[in-house]
Amino acid sequence: MKLHEYQSKQLFARYGIPIPKGRVAATATEARQIAEELGGRVVIKSQVLVGGRGKAGGIRLAKSPKEAEEVATQILAMEIKGLPVRKVLVDEAANIEQEIYLGITNDRAARRPVMMASSAGGVEIEEVARTTPEKIIKVHVDPLLGLRDFQARDVALGIDLPREHWKTFGGIACGLWKAYSENDATLAEINPLVITKEKQLVALDCKMLVDDNALFRHSDLVEMRDVDEEAAAETEARKYGLSYIKLDGQIGCMVNGAGLAMTTMDIVKLFGGEPANFLDIGGGAGADKVAAALRIILSDPNVKAILFNIFGGITRCDEVANGILSALAEVKLKIPMVVRLVGTNAEEGRQLLADAKMITAETLADAAQKAVAAVM
Ligand code: GDP
Ligand code: MN
Repeated sequence: MKLHEYQSKQLFARYGIPIPKGRVAATATEARQIAEELGGRVVIKSQVLVGGRGKAGGIRLAKSPKEAEEVATQILAMEIKGLPVRKVLVDEAANIEQEIYLGITNDRAARRPVMMASSAGGVEIEEVARTTPEKIIKVHVDPLLGLRDFQARDVALGIDLPREHWKTFGGIACGLWKAYSENDATLAEINPLVITKEKQLVALDCKMLVDDNALFRHSDLVEMRDVDEEAAAETEARKYGLSYIKLDGQIGCMVNGAGLAMTTMDIVKLFGGEPANFLDIGGGAGADKVAAALRIILSDPNVKAILFNIFGGITRCDEVANGILSALAEVKLKIPMVVRLVGTNAEEGRQLLADAKMITAETLADAAQKAVAAVM
């Protein structure tokens, strides 16, 4: 789950990270009011869950409340990388002397988190990583010990940070580590962390990604989820407890169990097809869940055939068949559907589907071949 910049900032501030004064606004009038409260120059920042807002024109300075209103009007009418801007953050503008990059993520190869920093922060950091990777300092963090003070100093030294900022920087680095580990983040990032002309360190842009699998223990973070920003199919899938990942192929797959779902995708590919999605309806899925899964698969216009592969263990095949039938009562199906039911109550399930113009299959190989043939 991605947090918006304004949400990440508020969260990082609780860990002692200095952020600019400011608030989020949904209208240009509100943006003007905030600019009046702040007094002086402000920066108006689009709140969308994609990077590169600056380069897309979604970050602009305003010298007065009137200009803030004008700029906010323009930014609130924008779309950035296909996402409409619904909110802007209005922050006190900073006088930037230097832009630093500071982030923490998981290094899977090293099997531990890694803190990365660069004196060449800002909007070109990807370019820096590609062309001059030696400008990025990396320090691995022992997850049990946490980020140690000496490691923060190593980072400060590595990016040639002037001595006068080391103490503050140490506090920011440790705060970022705490924010990362206590919230089960997969990324916690400040880019840019700036040194201002007034010789202050300020986190101008903050970003955090949280591990979805840990959200059950972070109810405060769950409340921050912005469903307007995610694909409708994903929101729907979560509501019904389905694991759904959209892919680019034409064969929609509905399977119970993650392992079986992956096997099904492999076999589809083996016979020359491309899966349109990963979808695990889980064990013991009832009719309503199956109906929701079918709606979600069919909401993808690329889907040209559907392959159901159900192994009835806890899940009963007749329940699944009922789910398919009740879903078909609401969703008009114009594409072929191949069904393979095996296990508990498979005969009853197949019986129910026999009249519904569905292609049935005995084996997984047979089912995959029939699905591939259906999209050719
Ligand atoms: P991103 O493009 O989505 O990463 O958005 P950022 O918040 O990082 O902003 C992009 C760039 O805009 C920064 O690297 C800064 O150069 C500039 N910027 C952001 N806030 C301010 C500010 O308060 N004052 C000035 N002068 N520039 C800013
Ligand atoms: Mn940034």
